[in-house]
Amino acid sequence: MLLLECPYCGVSAEETELSPGGEAHLKRFGPGSTDEQFEDYLFLRPNVKGVHFERWRHAHGCGKWFLAARDTATLEVFGTYSAQTTEPPQHILDAIRAKRPDWSQP
Ligand SMILES: [Zn+2]
Repeated sequence: MLLLECPYCGVSAEETELSPGGEAHLKRFGPGSTDEQFEDYLFLRPNVKGVHFERWRHAHGCGKWFLAARDTATLEVFGTYSAQTTEPPQHILDAIRAKRPDWSQP
């Protein structure tokens, strides 16, 4: 079972209390972008097996969006943090590197 701590209300929420929101820190391309940029954004994103940054919503709690870093293969959670960030915070990167020394940030 996946447990994520909501960084806003501090509740350790089960997956059933949350709604997934896809990949975090994603640069979106829409009107005004080239066809290649839009195709890359829509269809050619990597499907990571390992460390992944994701958006989650505490749907049956405070209702707020937050971000999480976890391993998609083992479900190990490295931490959760505010959705108001454009990059993963240093303490999250440190937690990942402590457990995955060979990991490099994409
Ligand atoms: Zn919450």
